[in-house]
Amino acid sequence: MKIICIGRNYRKHAQELGNKVPDEPVIFMKPDSAILRQRDAFYIPDFSSDVHYEAEIVVKLNRLGKRIQSKFAHKYYAEFTVGIDFTARDLQAKLKEKGLPWEKAKGFDSSAVCGKWLPVKDFDMANLSFELKKNGQVVQSGNTSAMLFSIDEIIDHTSQYFTLKIGDQIFTGTPEGVGPVQKGDLLEGFVEGTKVLEVKVK
Ligand code: ZN
Repeated sequence: MKIICIGRNYRKHAQELGNKVPDEPVIFMKPDSAILRQRDAFYIPDFSSDVHYEAEIVVKLNRLGKRIQSKFAHKYYAEFTVGIDFTARDLQAKLKEKGLPWEKAKGFDSSAVCGKWLPVKDFDMANLSFELKKNGQVVQSGNTSAMLFSIDEIIDHTSQYFTLKIGDQIFTGTPEGVGPVQKGDLLEGFVEGTKVLEVKVK
């Protein structure tokens, strides 16, 4: 399986990092070795001193498809959750400065964690609120209605380039409020007020 991630999909987050608002989805990927299992702790890697959390709605593909039109995209996923796209921000800044790919800053071991999967049919995916708490304080609060590109548009655009397979995950971008993690932090993700994710930082 592969993990596809969308960058700069919320206007205020693009602005907080000093990036322009994109006119098409910004796509990058993480390898499957990036997956951190639910309930495992996240260990800060020694090559970074500024790892950030990015809470995102993640959808899981349940059908194989390519060149999927937006209007049919909803047929390709039935489950979603909140995940964290851990990012070595210091390393990413250096790579961006040199115009190099972001993989080392984004795709390292344990950089992708997903919460408990929920059925799409029980929710309004176009108006879904989600939150991340760090040590009990809300640090990110987002709603999919603020996405620059909807989940279906992301699937349309992505599948023009990459065949989507069963089990692939799409991280759909983070709202504003990203920030660093430190040893001892507890991160908790919520969808519509219900806790679906918990990660300890070590
Ligand atoms: Zn992200």
